[in-house]
Amino acid sequence: MEILSREIGLSNVHVIKDEKTIIVDTGTYRNKAGMLNELRAMGVDPKEVSLIILTHGHMDHCANVNVLKELTGAPVLAHKNAVKFLETGEFDPYVPRGEWGKMFFDFVKDNPVDLPDPITPDIIVGDEDFDLSAYGVHGKVIYTPGHVNSNITVLLDSGEAICGDTIIINPFNGFNGTGALFCDDREALDRSLERLFKEAHTYYSGHGGPFTKDQIQVDPE
Ligand SMILES: [Zn+2]
Repeated sequence: MEILSREIGLSNVHVIKDEKTIIVDTGTYRNKAGMLNELRAMGVDPKEVSLIILTHGHMDHCANVNVLKELTGAPVLAHKNAVKFLETGEFDPYVPRGEWGKMFFDFVKDNPVDLPDPITPDIIVGDEDFDLSAYGVHGKVIYTPGHVNSNITVLLDSGEAICGDTIIINPFNGFNGTGALFCDDREALDRSLERLFKEAHTYYSGHGGPFTKDQIQVDPE
């Protein structure tokens, strides 16, 4: 199994190559030709893609979801709390966590992003684990709220986790990883991090990374 990551716009797109291929998140700016080139650069045959997973309903992660669905024919999976955003473009507010969160908000707030065309996910998961073996990947989707209440993580049997913005780069602390700098529920975030630290050893983020456990520092604030 192999994980490939590319920063496409402001966020990372991840490709899991196992028996089949799963794409996790779809980048920030809509660009069909660009996405096709990115897939080629990662050695992805669009026909081998079995699933497209959106880690959460924030527009910097979802711009090319329709483009990738069209290119691959694969179904789209998201958490039930991401459906409103995907269907209407309405998103929950970004809530900065602590001083670093406020600094991060100032750092990113003026970046333009593209909204995806409205889409209803083909597979809508709830809070229970969702096994990915039917899609040719040894792992599962788990619910990891805290950044926003739609955030899910792909937890692979290898101990690698693709966790959306549950863990994110901290540009104010040596570019190490930290818990979500935008956080709408601190207790939920702590529970999500606890499970991730217990069940995984390497963390692929929407922004920066990948991080190993010892590269992650979560401030108490
Ligand atoms: Zn986000």
